[in-house]
Amino acid sequence: MANQLRRLADRPDLCCINTATLGFRLPISVTIDAIARAGFGAITPWRREVESSDAATVSRQIRDAGLNVAAYCRSSFLPAENSVEFFKNLDLNRRALDEAALLGAQSFVMVVGSLVPGSRDLSAVRMQVEEGIRILLEYARSIGVKLALEPLHPMYASDRSCLNTLEQCLDLIDRAETGSDRGPRHLGVALDVYHVWWDPKLTDQVKRAGKDDRILAFHVCDWLASTQDLLMDRGMMGDGVVDIPGIRNTVEDAGYAGVVEVEIFSKRWWSTPIDEVLSIAGERLRTAC
Ligand code: ZN
Repeated sequence: MANQLRRLADRPDLCCINTATLGFRLPISVTIDAIARAGFGAITPWRREVESSDAATVSRQIRDAGLNVAAYCRSSFLPAENSVEFFKNLDLNRRALDEAALLGAQSFVMVVGSLVPGSRDLSAVRMQVEEGIRILLEYARSIGVKLALEPLHPMYASDRSCLNTLEQCLDLIDRAETGSDRGPRHLGVALDVYHVWWDPKLTDQVKRAGKDDRILAFHVCDWLASTQDLLMDRGMMGDGVVDIPGIRNTVEDAGYAGVVEVEIFSKRWWSTPIDEVLSIAGERLRTAC
């Protein structure tokens, strides 16, 4: 390990909860207070929570609780069977970007979608997604929100995302927002250990991302060795096989200075009392990350 890991114990400002971890069981106002009470300094809310209230109110509640908004989750899927549907999808994302700006989110997480029903053309869908990202990037720039592309584990390539490795995302970013573009960057990646831990190119690609200031978010959970469900069985940090401190070290060594964000989709943790989830997540951030 090159650098020393940042000590999370003394830095609540670096400890973030993605509200998906809590299973969307409570109104966002209650969730916000529980997260602040548990000693976290940042929150990443989801659209379903914000859109069931309104972004300005939620934004005020978050500030009043003393929390920062790390990011806003997440994009509507981009792929569509025809251009009418494609432009509808872009509009949904523009509306969400407006909410991200209102919330003061540092980035908008993009899970881009994949094959539409009946299609087997993964190359075509990847081209359509790239076109959509280019269009949304212009809008994101105009309102000062950054787009964080999240590569998803290849097991989701058929339905949730056709962006499956960090290298693939960085290649797309290089084409869409070149280093010679003037002004601050508005396109980067959200790195989630669940999706990238297996990748033999991870270390090299994290260095590449860092060199160009493209790492916008860092998500932690764990990969359970005998996972039971492809979506709803993520592990709490320390319960699985991912070398989280090793990956975090690489990410921070590459220049990432943002929050460490807990994001756990799990039947088990979604049926555990929320205060208990928050307390264990806080402890594992200090001891297993
Ligand atoms: Zn994630």
